[in-house]
Amino acid sequence: MGGPDKLTDAERAAAVAAFEKLGICTQLAEAAAGLGWKSPSNIQEQAVPHLLQGQDVIGLAQTGSGKTGAFSLPILQALMDRPQEHFALILSPTRELAIQIAEQVEALGSGIGVKCAVLVGGIDMMAQAIALAKRPHILVGTPGRVVDHLSNTKGFNLKQLKHLVLDEADKLLDMDFEQEIDQILKVIPRERRTQLFSATMTNKVQKLQRACLVKPVKVEVAAKYSTVETLRQQYVFIPAKYKDCYLAYVLNELSGSTFMIFTRTCESTRRIALLLRNLGFGAVPIHGHMSQPKRLGALNKFKAGERNILVATDVASRGLDIPSVDVVVNYDVPQNSKDYIHRVGRTARAGRSGRSVTIATQYDVELFQKIEHLTGIKMEQFAAEREEVLMLLERVSDAQRLATMQMKEADAGKKGKRKGEDGDDEGGPVGGGAGGGRGAAGGGRGGRGGGGGGGKRPKLGGRKY
Ligand code: AMP
Repeated sequence: MGGPDKLTDAERAAAVAAFEKLGICTQLAEAAAGLGWKSPSNIQEQAVPHLLQGQDVIGLAQTGSGKTGAFSLPILQALMDRPQEHFALILSPTRELAIQIAEQVEALGSGIGVKCAVLVGGIDMMAQAIALAKRPHILVGTPGRVVDHLSNTKGFNLKQLKHLVLDEADKLLDMDFEQEIDQILKVIPRERRTQLFSATMTNKVQKLQRACLVKPVKVEVAAKYSTVETLRQQYVFIPAKYKDCYLAYVLNELSGSTFMIFTRTCESTRRIALLLRNLGFGAVPIHGHMSQPKRLGALNKFKAGERNILVATDVASRGLDIPSVDVVVNYDVPQNSKDYIHRVGRTARAGRSGRSVTIATQYDVELFQKIEHLTGIKMEQFAAEREEVLMLLERVSDAQRLATMQMKEADAGKKGKRKGEDGDDEGGPVGGGAGGGRGAAGGGRGGRGGGGGGGKRPKLGGRKY
């Protein structure tokens, strides 16, 4: 997820007190607050006290619940009392997750000088052997590579291990790491504390639990940052230069729906709204450069069904009572993954189904992966035939040029009276002329079956243009 949110002094003090209340020492409580954590998450609240008492814990929790903090804070606290190398081993099913866990453990333990080593495949064994020679306190790795080091790295063993964490146990077992886990269990002390986290309780997980936990306390939570099951999360992965074209394609494919499109900046919100209107869609923008009455005016048009597409920035859409929409489109991948959850929360409310489509380009891979990590859900691909999409290119390019001109005109005309203003802060659609030309796009929502586009030219937005 994105960088930590800075807490105010009062929030920070409250956060520290809340973590201390669970039994976490001041230094680590401050580290948690330093990551922007305002209070312990549900799983932290439930698991930490048991862990501090030295009990084994089985946690039914998903990624996004704060489980990494739940298992690592008590381990770090125990480490402070008795510092030693190879104090804890955290096993994770994937390399990416292992790296993220290590980052979080290091962030929480930075004040106490914790040393971590990451043992995952795809990275040079030698470099990892060197990291092991530095006597790290905490090892985070995938089972295969840990076994590899146990067999091949001279002088490395886990005879001193005090804590074992099996993270995402269901995935560990799905990925056939059973044998490696068994091998590891054979060479670590029986006298240790063990934690097992899993999103689901399968037979295999139960078997593993019996094999390696002693009288575990079971804690269970729903993920704090989860998305609902009725939400269908999709993406298109495309070259950045075709973003507008794919946006038009997606809107057309899902015509008949209400949409909320999120962009990163006010300027792109303005531009996209104009672009779409030039293409015949009923789009209205909400952005930070609009006055509050104008924002509300735009929103009311959307609510009244006069327009079916609301284009917004994260900030501009906050605090407004926006109704549930059928589809959320992430025109820009959010920089902060938590914003993704907020955005897609605009659809699939109250048990209804909904859909989100995230437009990702070559520049968004890392952000995209962070979102999938946070939600714990792999997005599915939105079906889009490239040739079909690119048939729209010419029209979209025309509409882009026009939008740029309209923005310039609107900016130049700010002092004077603006032409074609229809209350949405920008001019109306091309060809539609003054008054916003709601006609076909308003209420009707959608291109298919709309007016004839002329010859083979693909139709968009239900309006002839
Ligand atoms: P996890 O479930 O451990 O993968 O955590 C998901 C995300 O939630 C991570 O990016 C953490 O930084 C964040 N997180 C963990 N605990 C808290 C908390 N108490 N408050 C706010 N965010 C948290």
